[in-house]
Amino acid sequence: MRIACERLVTRDEVLDHALIDLDGDGRVIAVESDRPGARADHVLALAIPGLANTHSHAFHRLLRGRTHAGGGDFWRWRDTMYRVAGSLDPDRMRAVATAVYSEMVAAGYTAVGEFHYLHHRPGGLPYPDHAMEIALAEAAAEAGIRLTLLDAAYLRAGFGKAPEGAQLRFSDGTAERWLERWHRLRGALASSHPEVTLGAALHSVRAVAPEDLGLAVGGLPADAPLHVHLSEQPAENADCVAATGMTPTVLLDLTGALSARTTVVHATHLTDADIARLGAARVSVSMCPTTEADLGDGLGHAAELHEAGARLTIGSDQNVVIDPFDEVRRLEGGARLASGRRGVLPLGTLWDAATTAGHTSLRPGARTGIEVGEQLDLVALAPRSARLAGVRPHELLGAAAADDAVASIVRGRYQDSSALRTRAWDAFEEASHGE
Ligand SMILES: [Zn+2]
Repeated sequence: MRIACERLVTRDEVLDHALIDLDGDGRVIAVESDRPGARADHVLALAIPGLANTHSHAFHRLLRGRTHAGGGDFWRWRDTMYRVAGSLDPDRMRAVATAVYSEMVAAGYTAVGEFHYLHHRPGGLPYPDHAMEIALAEAAAEAGIRLTLLDAAYLRAGFGKAPEGAQLRFSDGTAERWLERWHRLRGALASSHPEVTLGAALHSVRAVAPEDLGLAVGGLPADAPLHVHLSEQPAENADCVAATGMTPTVLLDLTGALSARTTVVHATHLTDADIARLGAARVSVSMCPTTEADLGDGLGHAAELHEAGARLTIGSDQNVVIDPFDEVRRLEGGARLASGRRGVLPLGTLWDAATTAGHTSLRPGARTGIEVGEQLDLVALAPRSARLAGVRPHELLGAAAADDAVASIVRGRYQDSSALRTRAWDAFEEASHGE
């Protein structure tokens, strides 16, 4: 297959009249520029690399547009989310994830990290054959997105508190049993869905006891991506300090959870010492600005974390908004609001957040999908978008919107965004049927 791009914009280059040749497996054989008028299977006017979404909870999409009335705080939102979590079975999970992942590909995301903790039946009995996890893998295949399944350890309700209510579906009981299921899942996915990357997650220091953090990390292969929610809410920090005398960052570090393969999610309420420690560990940080705004979490420390040596990435988290460009704009916008300055994060850092750093957080060693030997990932933007008229190529990420994405190529597979949006609508109808 051959793809022609009238203009291909990457972090460091603008290629005009680019031609990309692919083998039968969707891998890039050659990229050439200055080849106007060449014949191609698909001609894209304006293209950018595929974007990475490092933090998603697909089923939270069911709450979109339903949580404003009555207000409340994060913890009240969580009660509503737990009611939805209690109502899901594998079929409904597959349907809502198909809707969410289709909307993601339509918007320009070509890879997603699904932070998954809804493992078991109501009450906690296991499903046979990893039914929930396979439902997510099937949804990703249907939508055509690269999936990193971040299977989460969630073992308790809080410091010294056993899981209760909806949390019984999340818990494997002990770190050993979570690890045992994780390794079985790895074998099952390798045979049924080898295209899925299996990563791991520690839900948070609330949900995994200090002694279990070290056990869990030590039982994982060294190359598995590891994600963990960190300091999203002040109450979590206060509980951790009261129970252990340490901030969540220090606790994670001392139990071996912080390293270059780790992505901490949110990292909103940090001390200066936490920021230095995260930077020294070379972690990635998944910032989810649309969700953090929606939940009233607070403004994170993007500029300081970047300065300290951490790698910034973006996530859609609760999927109230699925728009990578909005996340990028708010990442820089938050840094401006916090500092009173403009152009706080270098443009290259914003590109890295949405592309290379994001993909590496999901697949260690990942390269952008435009390099020879890689399966091609590209996003086509509208050639005559009024919104993008006059925008300099390297400022596209901060100026575009999800609607500007008109087509995507993931692993060499071309899909039209309007067809993906129709599929998202239909799958959502199926997911919400009977409500
Ligand atoms: Zn989350």
